[in-house]
Amino acid sequence: MIVSVKPGADPERVRQGLVARGLWVVRYQTHHGGVHFLARPYSGMVSRESLLSMEGVADIAEPPSPHPMVDAQPKAVEVSGVLIGEGVPPVFMAGPCSIESPEQIDHIAARLSRLGVRFLRGGAFKPRTSPYHFQGLGEQALGWIAAAAKHHNMVAVTEALSEEMVSPVAEHAGMIQIGSRNMQNFPLLHAVGRTGRPVLLKRGMAATIEEWLLAGEHCLFAGAAAVVFCERGIRGFDPGTRHLLDLGAVALMVHGHHQPVVVDPSHALGRKDLIGPLSRAALAAGASGLLLETHDDPAHALSDGPQALSPDEMAALVNDLGQPLPGEAVR
Ligand code: PEP
Ligand code: MN
Repeated sequence: MIVSVKPGADPERVRQGLVARGLWVVRYQTHHGGVHFLARPYSGMVSRESLLSMEGVADIAEPPSPHPMVDAQPKAVEVSGVLIGEGVPPVFMAGPCSIESPEQIDHIAARLSRLGVRFLRGGAFKPRTSPYHFQGLGEQALGWIAAAAKHHNMVAVTEALSEEMVSPVAEHAGMIQIGSRNMQNFPLLHAVGRTGRPVLLKRGMAATIEEWLLAGEHCLFAGAAAVVFCERGIRGFDPGTRHLLDLGAVALMVHGHHQPVVVDPSHALGRKDLIGPLSRAALAAGASGLLLETHDDPAHALSDGPQALSPDEMAALVNDLGQPLPGEAVR
């Protein structure tokens, strides 16, 4: 809150009055002159009315948000007719790390769609740490995921790794993914935003929550229809759990900022045995969906095999999480 002091009143007396009410207070500069204090909303439980009744207080206002377009997103955003966010059932985004052939992606899509998975996620361009690792099959794979998604009435989600590829990606995908390593690649965020497509914005592995929100603001500012935030783990110090899945950030993003957040335990942990418990924890923290890598033959996946769930394992997880499995036998 910004507390404005009445002209002629003693600012120090107002400051002391605020401190006496348990508020953490700093002097705040505005363009309009006068004396103002910024009182942190989480520093004390004090009502606006009680502050307005204080001697020497002229007005109470909220500071302008650095990310007004993100703040103005509805609690549930719409992506190709599917709602993602508060008050609607969680969504699943699933598919192989890399799209490996038209048959592979169609076969996986067939299984996933029967489980009620609405978003088919697969990579044509892979951001690999090593240049010697599989980099994805490139532009040709965009047509394959688009065809599989259409065939099984799903929404294709795939990553745009570079500005040149934004336009073909937008042509084939209902939602464009920005990978962790590109969260602050602002020209790329703008290019993706300009397509008007909804964005799946993965959190940079060393990004603060505020930087993540501001990256979302870049996308919306440039024209994106919506931003869904994806927590995929941040840099911790223990390689035992690879990245540190930040469920505190998920709770704050959902319950504090009212943003749609999807959690990706696959890339966070890098191993499939812990995906079940972390998926449950993510939903308990308020996540609006899960991104899960799924492969019909994980042992031979061209990338990220160790974290990929087989279709049967995916079916068991979806069932365990209490989601409906239309048309699929429960194991
Ligand atoms: C991915 O989603 O395929 C990926 C590489 O994830 P991240 O950008 O989170 O590392
Ligand atoms: Mn992957």
